Amino acid sequence: MRAIQIAKTGGPEVMRLVEIPIPEPGPGQVLIKIAAAGVNFIEIYFREGRYPAALPLTLGMEAAGTVAATGEGVTGFAVGEPVASTGVQGAYAEYAVAPAAQVVKVPASLDLGQAAAALLQGMTAHYLAYSTFPLKAGDTALIHAAAGGVGLLLTQMAHRIGARVIATVSTPEKAALARAAGADEVILYTEVDFAIATRRLTDGRGVDVVYDSVGKTTFAKSLDCLRPRGLLALFGGSSGAVPPFDPIQLNVKGSLYVTRPTLAHYILTREELEARAGVVLGWVADGSLKLRMEHSYPLAEAAEALIAIAARRTTGKLLLIP
Ligand code: NDP
Repeated sequence: MRAIQIAKTGGPEVMRLVEIPIPEPGPGQVLIKIAAAGVNFIEIYFREGRYPAALPLTLGMEAAGTVAATGEGVTGFAVGEPVASTGVQGAYAEYAVAPAAQVVKVPASLDLGQAAAALLQGMTAHYLAYSTFPLKAGDTALIHAAAGGVGLLLTQMAHRIGARVIATVSTPEKAALARAAGADEVILYTEVDFAIATRRLTDGRGVDVVYDSVGKTTFAKSLDCLRPRGLLALFGGSSGAVPPFDPIQLNVKGSLYVTRPTLAHYILTREELEARAGVVLGWVADGSLKLRMEHSYPLAEAAEALIAIAARRTTGKLLLIP
């Protein structure tokens, strides 16, 4: 089968289209014939070596497809059944295995491209809005990179809860998308100081929560946007890693809270995974959560997909089709 592997860490040039054997599902694993793989920013961190991994590595952790085979001890999955997972071991490929515990069934009303587009970023947006800082009607949230994959879904969820959304984006085109997703205010953070703008938009009070996936270039000012005892959920570092900081700043800036959450800890049990995936896929199926799937690449062009997302040229979800 064809797969996208890296044998060493580095830039897009280390990504190679290779022929490797179809993996055998081990005990507790499901072999998935992949229909669509989700592209996520985390693949750049693995490619660059920011997150360590054994090499050679087939990139990708999110995919939807059909069950091709099951390993010893797996029950409840039939060959040919449509499934999706965010725990796929090498999703940039024609086939990949995933632990059965991390595989969910795709409702018949969804196509597999929609499932691959929704699951990882949708469950991320869901845990941020409903668990990390459970938003209520009347709260104000600052959402960075609101036209991105997670950003558009999180903006829709926050809007639907009745929170006021202040969004940041880099271009007027992205601003229009964020507004269409439900942002009440949009700040072009590449042109204006978003902390000053946020204070102005909240009459000096500050926001209840900042959802920050940008990291290096936004973290310090995100703290300046919070009301006393507000929470900063730093869930990514698209601009780079946040340098070490002195916790005394949390005192000085208003007894603030900071968390660095990750999806795996919000789908810890089978029940939690099924509940979160069920809600997200259900909302996509009934049309109440809109996916933006403008960018689909053939598997062989996976490097181009990662170049585009790193260059801030993309909006919404990117898919790879094997
Ligand atoms: P996005 O679609 O959001 O793409 C990244 C966006 O970040 C860009 O479009 C850009 O938006 C913004 N950005 C700001 N500065 C930079 C920069 N210097 N270089 C590149 N992009 C920049 O990606 P995803 O939705 O896949 O992921 C968003 C973030 O969330 C990533 O950091 C990812 O790792 C993280 N994540 C974390 C999870 C978790 O559980 N912790 C789960 C899923 C994702 P603009 O042009 O508007 O500035």
